[in-house]
Amino acid sequence: MSCTEESDDHWSYNDPSKWHEHFPAAGGMSQSPIDIKSRHTIFQQYLPFVFSLDHTNQIMLTLTNNGHQITAILSKDFENQNQTNLSCTGGGLNGKFNFVNFHLHWSRKDRHGSEHEIDGHTFPAEAHFVYKNLETQQIAVLGFFFHVIRSHNEENSEWKKYSHIASLLTNIGDKMNCTFNLSHMMQIESRRFFRYMGSLTTPPCTEGIIWTIFLDSISITEESLNLLRHNVMRKTYRPIQPINHRIIHRNYNH
Ligand SMILES: [Zn+2]
Repeated sequence: MSCTEESDDHWSYNDPSKWHEHFPAAGGMSQSPIDIKSRHTIFQQYLPFVFSLDHTNQIMLTLTNNGHQITAILSKDFENQNQTNLSCTGGGLNGKFNFVNFHLHWSRKDRHGSEHEIDGHTFPAEAHFVYKNLETQQIAVLGFFFHVIRSHNEENSEWKKYSHIASLLTNIGDKMNCTFNLSHMMQIESRRFFRYMGSLTTPPCTEGIIWTIFLDSISITEESLNLLRHNVMRKTYRPIQPINHRIIHRNYNH
């Protein structure tokens, strides 16, 4: 079987409603993802995000099949690479946040795949870039949606590369090194975003996570998504959770 077998760490995307049985935080009041009702968001001005220069370089990362996702972390095989060089500030975050990992969420068909929704609208995939403030231990996640395009020329080349490498990691624990340009992956010139407090979307679903969800989506082809769906995992997203009176901010004014 080419698809990843179920891992034995007590959770899978087949039964997200049962995650709280092993991970109590998953039953909390500030869980992610959510459906962002744009009409109910509140405008707030944030300083622009500032990403360190290394974001614009090709950085050597290690992609790993962890049984739930294909996650990319800074490669430990290259000593000249330092986590503290890959950081971001601004965007309403307190202090300096260092890159931890990025990964992608998707589903069997284009109709689903994103974790967050905007006004009930789902996207075919959603990327998460996880950052951590090493002084405060605060975690911030930057989320980006995808839209499917037909033309290979318009596909984001870094995500095409991710899909191809990830599709080779068919067994749990499989790893591979590859260089990525994070700036190109995030298309960080896109500035409109939503901000709210939520949780990790995978167990243990810890709360207190600062979420930034960017509006402008990234292009990917059906072919790239199919490589992931058919070779590694069919479905890697958690359904939306109750908002429970949380306030969602947006950084743009109509
Ligand atoms: Zn994620």
